[in-house]
Amino acid sequence: MPTLGKASMERLNTCDPRLQNIITSVVEHFDCTVTCGHRTEEEQEEAFRTGKSTVQFPNSKHNSLPSKAVDVVPCPVDWNDLKRFYYFAGFVMATAEAQGVKLRFGGDWNGDTQVKDNNFNDLPHFEIVD
Ligand SMILES: [Zn+2]
Repeated sequence: MPTLGKASMERLNTCDPRLQNIITSVVEHFDCTVTCGHRTEEEQEEAFRTGKSTVQFPNSKHNSLPSKAVDVVPCPVDWNDLKRFYYFAGFVMATAEAQGVKLRFGGDWNGDTQVKDNNFNDLPHFEIVD
C-alpha cells in the first residue's frame, strides 16, 4: 500500500484536519505526493509572481493556518500526463464526498463538473468550500 513520504507528511500536517483525512485515505489507493500545504506570505508572493497562483497574500486558501487548500499530484509524477491528473482529481473528489467534505478542484473552479470552461487550470489544487 502506498504511503506519503516525509516531506509530503510535513506539508499535509499544515492542512485542515479534513484535508489530512481525505489525502491519507486517497494515498492508500492512489499513490500521490503533497507538493504544497500552507503558504507563507513570501511563498504566496512567489507563487503569484511565477504564475502558479492568480491571487496575492492573504487571498489564497493556502494562506490560512491550518491551510484550507492542498496541492497533490499522482505518482509517478508526469506533468505532461494531464489525463492522469483528471483521473486522480475524480478520485480525490469522490473520497471527499464520501467523507462529507465539499471540495473545489483547480480544474473546475465553478464546480459545474465541466472542465472545458475552466480558464485557469491548477490541476494539483483542492480546497475546502466552507
Ligand atoms: Zn493550490
